[in-house]
Amino acid sequence: MAIDFTLSPEVEEVRKRVRTFMEEEVRPVQEGLQREEAERNRYIEEIGNLRRRAKDLGLWNPHMPKEWDGMGLSITAMAFVSAEAARVGGIGPYVLNAQAPDEGNMHTLLAWATPEQKEKYLRPLTEGRARSCFAMTEPEVAGSDPTLIQTSAVKDGDDWVLNGHKWFISGARGASFAICIARTDPDADPPQARNSAFLVDMPSDGWEIVRDIETMAGRGNHCEIRITDVRVSAANMLGGQGEGHKLGQARLGPARLAHCMRWIGQAEVALEMMIDRALNRFAHGSLLADKQAIQWMIADSAMELYTGKLMVLHAAYRIENGLEFRQEVSYAKHHVANTLWRVVDRAIQVHGALGYSTDTPLADMMRHARAARLVDGADEVHQQTIARNVIKAFKEDGSTRMATGDLL
Ligand SMILES: Cc1cc2nc3c(=O)[nH]c(=O)nc-3n(C[C@H](O)[C@H](O)[C@H](O)COP(=O)(O)OP(=O)(O)OC[C@H]3O[C@@H](n4cnc5c(N)ncnc54)[C@H](O)[C@@H]3O)c2cc1C
Repeated sequence: MAIDFTLSPEVEEVRKRVRTFMEEEVRPVQEGLQREEAERNRYIEEIGNLRRRAKDLGLWNPHMPKEWDGMGLSITAMAFVSAEAARVGGIGPYVLNAQAPDEGNMHTLLAWATPEQKEKYLRPLTEGRARSCFAMTEPEVAGSDPTLIQTSAVKDGDDWVLNGHKWFISGARGASFAICIARTDPDADPPQARNSAFLVDMPSDGWEIVRDIETMAGRGNHCEIRITDVRVSAANMLGGQGEGHKLGQARLGPARLAHCMRWIGQAEVALEMMIDRALNRFAHGSLLADKQAIQWMIADSAMELYTGKLMVLHAAYRIENGLEFRQEVSYAKHHVANTLWRVVDRAIQVHGALGYSTDTPLADMMRHARAARLVDGADEVHQQTIARNVIKAFKEDGSTRMATGDLL
């Protein structure tokens, strides 16, 4: 019986180092970024210094193996590092060079790229000299079903010629390349074998960023892109022909979990803010923290957060041990995205009008949290996967156990 929930001293030590660095050095810069424009620019410059400092402290590339300039952490250890980094919002992961979508792209290149492709595309990412994006979703067809992708890639001599339309491509502006999913084999059966992945250098003739889409959280470099006769050499196909779907799925498993790890850090901050406010606000004869209605909100949030942490760690354990992990990642992705949304909402409620203002980070957290239920698989797509697997398990052996974590 080998269930052991104790953290190894190495993981505990790394977690503490990340927390100290984030609280003492990154948080002041994050808070400075919220100031007026003139002052903000000074803090933007500071981010580069923080990245150099992360390197000096040995906290660079926590998700990468040592031979790729990384910390060589396991996925479970990475869960703790990501959650700590995400406590200081968007810049925490970036300071460690573990931000989306580059983190997922680095994993993908590590697993799928040829040695030449790794030197050209992975090396600059791990060194923090370049950024990248992942271009799959299209406005004309449901992003939930990548077999519908319309962007085409047609062979022309030694090159492929790409034509199509993408949107919500995070990090596209300023990226030096894209991993772009396009249809190479329109008649392939099964339809999952229709797409291939390409490394597209940026800028490239015909690769046009139409706009940075305005979202409810403002402009976040989620771009719409027109692709017109973009030429890509055959050497820039990533993985084999017809393996684009497989590559996308392989990328999305760990990438979804990495999102969950960051969302846990954010949900933790919201719960702490909720409790802090409840301990300091007095109404109708007692502190809010003494009122049962508020305690229920705190208890529900804590239970959901705790469940989410267990789900993330279990999915990470399965990935790490080479076990099938899609079901567990779907559980975690759906649960943590919804937990984040609910905990932030309750924290706003406990803050009253202050929570609705932009004087606290909660409004911004809520606007960003809404995307969590859509990106990397909408809620309903994960529920569909979960239900299918539970039904299948029941049909096969009269029990749902195999599809509910294979536990107990
Ligand atoms: C902030 C942000 C960043 C993003 N970054 C990227 C990126 O970097 N690269 C990229 O390629 N894409 C990116 N996306 C796109 C994202 O991956 C897609 O939005 C997502 O896959 C859903 O696709 P869609 O928007 O086309 O919705 P659709 O597929 O049209 O789905 C719409 C709704 O239909 C419902 N639905 C869909 N399928 C089912 C089903 N089987 N059963 C029941 N209901 C269903 C769900 O409610 C779903 O929300 C990003 C999106 C956002 C919001």
